[in-house]
Amino acid sequence: MRSAAYDVVIIGAGPAGLAAAITLKKHADVQVLVIDSGKADKIRAGESIPPAALSCISFLGLRDIFDRANHFAYPGHVSVWGRHLAGFNDSVLDPMGPPWRLNRPVFDCMLVEAVSRHQTTIAWETQYLSRQPALDGFELTLYDRVKRQNYSLRAKMVIDASGPGAHFARSLGIKTHLQDQLIGLLRFSSINAGKLTAQTLLEADQNGWWYAAKLPQDKLVSMYITEAPVLRRINMAMAENFSKGISQTQLLAAHLAPVALSDHCFYKFPVYSSRLEQVYGKHWLAAGDAALCFDPIAAQGIYKSLSTGIKAGKTALAMLKSNGHDMSAAVLYQNHIDDSWQQYIDQRNQHYQQEQRWPESVFWQKRAETKVYPYKMMQEFNT
Ligand SMILES: Cc1cc2nc3c(=O)[nH]c(=O)nc-3n(C[C@H](O)[C@H](O)[C@H](O)COP(=O)(O)OP(=O)(O)OC[C@H]3O[C@@H](n4cnc5c(N)ncnc54)[C@H](O)[C@@H]3O)c2cc1C
Repeated sequence: MRSAAYDVVIIGAGPAGLAAAITLKKHADVQVLVIDSGKADKIRAGESIPPAALSCISFLGLRDIFDRANHFAYPGHVSVWGRHLAGFNDSVLDPMGPPWRLNRPVFDCMLVEAVSRHQTTIAWETQYLSRQPALDGFELTLYDRVKRQNYSLRAKMVIDASGPGAHFARSLGIKTHLQDQLIGLLRFSSINAGKLTAQTLLEADQNGWWYAAKLPQDKLVSMYITEAPVLRRINMAMAENFSKGISQTQLLAAHLAPVALSDHCFYKFPVYSSRLEQVYGKHWLAAGDAALCFDPIAAQGIYKSLSTGIKAGKTALAMLKSNGHDMSAAVLYQNHIDDSWQQYIDQRNQHYQQEQRWPESVFWQKRAETKVYPYKMMQEFNT
């Protein structure tokens, strides 16, 4: 039975929203509801996390469960990027330890179950539509996709963790700054025979870059990141074109040729570098990709979503205590987001500017520039 009033409503049940929910419930006796427009078994992009993400998992009280699952530590990256020779980035020298490769459905399930253990409901297939100001918070209008009906509830605080669309913040008129916009075509496959390195394989080509990573349970994810018009032009979504593209690479082709693959499944994901102009208001905060969204070249997205989800949870508690009158915690949160964005942009620019082998390529010319383009978000985020 849904209550009509909550202390905090979290929009989005990805890593950011779920980390925020667990943090809130760990630290206070507050009424929290998480809603998500998708289904519980939604396929999410991303499977490699940096060692720092383990501190978030520990903070959420989930380290034991994480260690018992079949995620594995991997030894680093091999890349052909900016030169024809392969370069190695071995995690053996990293004082933080190795990065981790996730069994993503198991990881997502771990977060969902942790929220349930905190007696908090996740309303799946429930979409945020609009809001009205209410006494001490907002009145939200939601759409129940199963019952096909709208309903309303009140929230003293809203955490917008709705991904790059930042649907709540944007409905308040907060602008998203788009630094870059690409598209990722992912192929998940089963490995039937042959041995594949656990290292991440990364390789630039004239129109974008390739990524391949072994997953738990003898699975493989391969991905091509490019611009949407390029993907349309080369019709990469066709299975044979994707395999042909890989066969024309240097590094991925050499590693994948001896491996027998089957059961290919393809998915397309928009890839943004974007940030919200402002990540808080009197009764709301934004976390995860809704606040700032990273290109997967950074391999920081899940970590950033967990850590900003945790920070948003703590900040929301401070704001609730003062009934929205003391905004000092929110200002600190904004500063943290601004710093993270600057670090990310510096790192991203450095990565892309390293690739100088195709001076005629529009893809690399655009990535080498640091100015913000007047992009319009891809269609699915315009509503
Ligand atoms: C192709 C690709 C590969 C990537 N690879 C990696 C990687 O290897 N490592 C890494 O760390 N990061 C990676 N990332 C980034 C990473 O996936 C994201 O940064 C991270 O998952 C974002 O988590 P989130 O909780 O902020 O948002 P999301 O996981 O996007 O969750 C947002 C949720 O909000 C819901 N929602 C949206 N609108 C509404 C609405 N109106 N009402 C209710 N609910 C709504 C959505 O259904 C969704 O479940 C990758 C990203 C892409 C695109």
